[in-house]
Amino acid sequence: MMNYARFLTAVSAARKPSPIRILTELQQRSPPSLISLAAGAPNPDTFPFQSAIIKLKNGPPLSFDEVAMKRALQYSASNGIPELLTWMKNLQKNLHDPPTAAYGPEKGQMDMCVTTGSQEGLCKVFEMLVSPGDVVLLDSPTYPGTLATLQPLGCKMVNVPSDQHGMIPAALKEVLSRWEPSDSGRPKVLYTIPNGGNPTGASMTVQRKKDVYQLASMYDMLIIEDDPYYFLQFDKPWAPTFLSMDVDGRVIRTDSFSKILSSGLRIGFVTGPKPLVERLVLHIQASTMHTSTFAQLLVSQLLHSWGQDGFLQHIDGVIDFYRNQRDAMISSAHKWLAGLAKWQTPSAGMFLWMELIGVRDSRQLIMEKALEKEVLLVPGGVFMIDSSEPCPYVRAAYSLSTPEQIEEAFKRLASLITEAL
Ligand code: PLP
Repeated sequence: MMNYARFLTAVSAARKPSPIRILTELQQRSPPSLISLAAGAPNPDTFPFQSAIIKLKNGPPLSFDEVAMKRALQYSASNGIPELLTWMKNLQKNLHDPPTAAYGPEKGQMDMCVTTGSQEGLCKVFEMLVSPGDVVLLDSPTYPGTLATLQPLGCKMVNVPSDQHGMIPAALKEVLSRWEPSDSGRPKVLYTIPNGGNPTGASMTVQRKKDVYQLASMYDMLIIEDDPYYFLQFDKPWAPTFLSMDVDGRVIRTDSFSKILSSGLRIGFVTGPKPLVERLVLHIQASTMHTSTFAQLLVSQLLHSWGQDGFLQHIDGVIDFYRNQRDAMISSAHKWLAGLAKWQTPSAGMFLWMELIGVRDSRQLIMEKALEKEVLLVPGGVFMIDSSEPCPYVRAAYSLSTPEQIEEAFKRLASLITEAL
């Protein structure tokens, strides 16, 4: 059985439930005849907003009558509004069938909470688990938001080599061989982006996930599965997730609606063992209190009106869009960048990761010369644990530009590289 206390930072272990929250729950279980002068919530009758109708591109509009509006404008539970959580738990069970769904609470039963984007979840997960001096394993290049969260925590970030299929289990084994499985200084946490990795576009195979999971078991590490591009996998069936293999209760998964419903609404989810999700919710209680009730109700209404099938149908449309965009970018790359750059075609997500041939450091090229040519890409160095080292890679996003713009951008990039050589 997992000893979750072992993984917590002193700060996280010291968190206590808010006494007001406990009173609120007491109140919710009492008969309506109870007169409570306990709640500190403002009176929504004083708020200026009355009602709202939100039109959808397809389907009947979502409506917030006065009652719904009052609720949307009010404080709500720190772990998320119940109907959104219930809908999402059902989705997780249907998509991933996590073994932990059937476990008892202490054994790491699957639990979930809503977060303000998956970034909030990731940040709070790391702050819950990572103390100064701890070793964190991750594949570099990786998402800069993760590096930004980890860097000030004073941990040691250790790179596990990866390729177009993500983290390499043999390389992980090699890295882990620096420690005994019982060594107190061994890594506690392994972080990876399993699908359509940012920035590499790489996706892990099932076999790799199984092998990585086994090593995590052997060394008793937690796996943080940051999967915002899960729903942008171009080929079906979608790959089984770490969550789906989690017999031990050692996987914390972050999901995001940013790439499929809205990035600005800030709706994400953490799924993981109950004892850890509870700690995280205590942190939310003490910081944001909860994700915007309005944003949650809006998304929840949409999901309930769509049902799971409607949701997955919407996703299919999003996938078709990004697959076309990817195809356009790859064909422009073949046309303009053959011999000048190397790349692997991504099977998920929205990024193409390219090595510029003969360029020692893309930063200089992009920062100094690219604007002159009116083309912008992200220099690869920003995705590295050590961003000071020269890096020949760049990241190109195919999410926002039209195929014509992508074509023109690669034409400009080609002339930029040619001139630099
Ligand atoms: N994780 C990865 C790998 C990402 O690429 C992003 C966004 O780009 C995030 C997490 C954060 O997404 P959000 O907070 O919008 O859910």
